[in-house]
This record gives sequence, structure tokens and C-alpha cells, in this order.
Amino acid sequence: MTPKLFLIVPCYNEEAVLPVTAPLFLKKITDLAREGKISPDSRILFVNDGSRDATWDIIRKLAAEDEHFLGISQSRNRGHQNAVLAGLMEAKDLCDITVSLDVDGQDDINAIDAMVEAYLDGYEVVYGVRSSRDTDSFFKRFTAQSFYKFLAAMGAEVVYNHADYRLISSRVLQEFAGFEEVNLYLRGLIPLVGFKSTTVEYARSERLAGSSHYPLKKMIGLAVDGVTSLSVKPLRLIMTFGIVVALISFIGCVWALITALIGKTVAGWASMTCIICFVSGVQLISLGIIGEYVGKIYMETKHRPRYIISERTWKP
Ligand code: UDP
Ligand code: MG
Repeated sequence: MTPKLFLIVPCYNEEAVLPVTAPLFLKKITDLAREGKISPDSRILFVNDGSRDATWDIIRKLAAEDEHFLGISQSRNRGHQNAVLAGLMEAKDLCDITVSLDVDGQDDINAIDAMVEAYLDGYEVVYGVRSSRDTDSFFKRFTAQSFYKFLAAMGAEVVYNHADYRLISSRVLQEFAGFEEVNLYLRGLIPLVGFKSTTVEYARSERLAGSSHYPLKKMIGLAVDGVTSLSVKPLRLIMTFGIVVALISFIGCVWALITALIGKTVAGWASMTCIICFVSGVQLISLGIIGEYVGKIYMETKHRPRYIISERTWKP
């Protein structure tokens, strides 16, 4: 049986580009269905992320004109990650596979063929990975790449050069539904769900119309969210820092004592220095210990599934 595909397309103030890309998405799924790769019942699900322009009206019109188009609207703007999540959760019981992609035409829709192929070969998650960043400005390229390196250094596992263009099977989505956290960083969370995954390369092009909603401020916000929602490494760093400071302070104390004994100081200097060094070391180590516990509490509050079974030798 051919899999039923849902394209999940978040839209925020996209009245300029939506009428351009919607027919392209439709052509893609009808072509794939004609080739017998996906079911003819496949759909394109637009998620209106609280747009203030005519985006929702356009989506409603598309849905009225062609049954392949579906739309849901969020009550207010919640950001790209939440919009994608809303679409995925809505689709998980309605289809076999989902592909999430941007509405602006930057994600090359021809990569969907290879993603579906990979799914048919047994992969449950297929990450779209950008082959080149030629169309990006130096600034965007530099900040984006620093972003991946920073995340990796901070202990957040992400797929290099992968944004949110990916195929996820409904089976993985059912398990992913168990991840109840509200601070969403999908790129880091989906790998945590596990299952057999692979990557497909695609060229990312320029926006077809409209303008980006990801200025530097939002990118930094996303990076901070990525690190703080996936990893407690920054809290751990306090401990390392505390130990280093304690060691330096110890040397500082010895140095203060020696200078005092040689008699090269004014009265009271050595004792003051020793107290400052000692207290700052103790304080940072204590903060580090508290950080360890806060980190544990933080991970516990997420109520993530403790295990996910991918296969059994019997049918439950
Ligand atoms: N988007 C969204 N909510 C937001 C911001 C963006 O749903 O608050 C959608 C947007 O409509 C697009 C995708 O997320 O489909 C990616 O946004 P954009 O193209 O502005 O980001 P960029 O590609 O420049 O990083
Ligand atoms: Mg874009």
C-alpha cells in the first residue's frame, strides 16, 4: 500500500508567497501520487500561525477549491516551532508520513521524492540537509554555522545543516507526542525520539516572495532555546568554573600568606585577600552543586518518556 503523505506548512504573514507556492506543492503531491509513490489521498496541511494579513483567507479559499488543501489556524502567533508541532500533531492520526517544510519555497520540494524513497526503504525519519549555502549572505552563513557549533559544544545533539525540512513517519510522531515539553526545539528533540533515520541533501534557494521572519534576534533566541531546552551543560559549566576558581584562589591564599610573611604588605591585606579568595571559591562550587540538582529537576519536569520500543519479535 502506498503511504499517505501530509505536507505540513507553517505560514505566518505569508500572503505574498502562499499563492505562488501552493500550486507547486499541489503539483508535487499529485505527481508523486501519479508515480505510485504516495497515496492519492495525500494532503497539504497549512498551519496559520496567527497571521495578521490575508494568509488565513487564502488558506480557506485554497481548501474550498481543492480537497488536497487543508488548513488549521492557531489562535495567535506562537512561533515557527509551535506551528510545525501543531501541524504534526494534527496530522499524526490522519496519515502515514509527514514532511514539514517552509511555505516560502526555500526548501526544494524535489527533495520530497528522495525522502519518500528513503521511507519506503525503511527509514522512519529523513532529515533534509542543505548541500550548500551559496544563496545566503556571508553573515547568515557565518551565524548559522556558528550556531551548530555552539549547540554541539553545549551538549545539544543536532543534525548538521538541518533546519526543519524533514520527513517523519506517523509512528515516530505517536512516540514524539509523549514529549510534553513546552520549550520546543524540534531539531534537537526528534533525534531524541530515535528510530532509523537518514539524511537527504537539498539546495536551499532564495525566498520566492515576501520577507524572512527570522531576524538575528529570533535566531539568537532559537539558539538559546535550543541549548537550554536540550542540555543542562551550562549549569555543569558553573561547577567546572567553580573548581578552577577555587584552585586559583588557593594559589592566591598561598601567595598572600607568603607576601605577608616576608613582610611586604600592609596589615590586614593578607587576611582580606585570603577571605575573598576562599569565599569566592566556596560560592562558585556551591552554585555548581545547586546547578547539578536544578539540572536534574529540570530534566525531570519534562516528563520525557524513559524508553521507546521500536521493535518486538511478537505482535502486541
Ligand atoms: N513562521 C511561522 N511563525 C513565525 C515565523 C515564521 O509559522 O512566527 C513560518 C514562516 O511562514 C515560514 C517558516 O516559518 O513558512 C520559516 O520562516 P522564514 O522563512 O521567515 O524564516 P527563514 O527561512 O528566513 O529562516
Ligand atoms: Mg524562509
